[in-house]
Amino acid sequence: MSVHESPLDLVGGTPLVRLRRVTGGLDCAVYAKLESANPGGGAKDRIAAAMVDDAEERGLLRPGGTIVEATSGNTGAGLAMVAAARGYRCVFAIPEKSSREKVAVLRAFGADVVVCPSGVPPQDPAHVRATAVRLAEEIPGAWLADQYNNPRNPEAHYRTTGPEIWKQTRGRITHFVAGVGTGGTITGTGRFLKEASGGAVTVVGADPEASVYSGGDGRPYLVESIGHFRHPDAAEDRWPESYDPAVVDRFERIPDRESLRTARRLAREEGLLVGGSSGTAVAGALRLGAGLGPDDLVVVLLPDSGHLYLSKVFDDGWLAEQGLAEPAGAEPAGAEGP
Ligand code: PMP
Repeated sequence: MSVHESPLDLVGGTPLVRLRRVTGGLDCAVYAKLESANPGGGAKDRIAAAMVDDAEERGLLRPGGTIVEATSGNTGAGLAMVAAARGYRCVFAIPEKSSREKVAVLRAFGADVVVCPSGVPPQDPAHVRATAVRLAEEIPGAWLADQYNNPRNPEAHYRTTGPEIWKQTRGRITHFVAGVGTGGTITGTGRFLKEASGGAVTVVGADPEASVYSGGDGRPYLVESIGHFRHPDAAEDRWPESYDPAVVDRFERIPDRESLRTARRLAREEGLLVGGSSGTAVAGALRLGAGLGPDDLVVVLLPDSGHLYLSKVFDDGWLAEQGLAEPAGAEPAGAEGP
């Protein structure tokens, strides 16, 4: 029989698919790594499995224990999937900015969800990370996964995502593009690809235009789960431990409108239903690709599925409320610029 014993056996090994239409006019090849193929729905399954394994080995998480995390949704989905398969409880602090589909997914996996206000400074006790820390202290047998500081986060991508891409492209990859949330994906994958290629692979961050990671002013933006937003009352900008800025060679800075339009184009023109941060990543890859030649091979990582954003990115009414409505009769081909 060709079968698996657990959904955890299905984490990783995601496909690379060539982008053919949105790339019109580019000389280089662009391949998308489809992380929505993971059983919990996104790239975060990789780090969830790795962080839980590590916590079990170190005795931090024991039978009957509770997994606690501050998450915009996908790390929660990964952890909740692992928890369901292994018999743990889960409690997540999630910012109200996250789509309602993400909250529904967490609840569907049996997790408890505490929705936290999005506009409060990090030192406010209601802040999403402060809430997670408090819950972990209050709940007996709780373990805080702490993806922003957990070395297993970038390490999971160094051990799995990077080697997969290297093998899938037979070492022909020249550029890797990804968004930066905790930074785990770009740090771990980028580090592996640089080492494997002897420094030949260029690592490019695709960042919301306003994000502090790429020098933005930190004002709020719409795309979820990536970039770094600066609250006016925050004492300082501190990069997460999971992010090593030295791995990133350069950034492409993408306005919300271009990210969301690119996500919609991926669905309509490529048949790839992916999320808003995938739109940012592909928009970055397209900008980068405009300056590349036929020998270049770009891999862009698409973290999750568009199913999680049907009420937002793919909802015309929501887009209009944000002042980002597509002009009536606009061709989805997006021949116009950003
Ligand atoms: N896109 C989505 C949809 C995500 O959930 C995340 C992680 N929160 C990212 C991008 C960024 O990945 P990382 O945290 O590894 O930088």
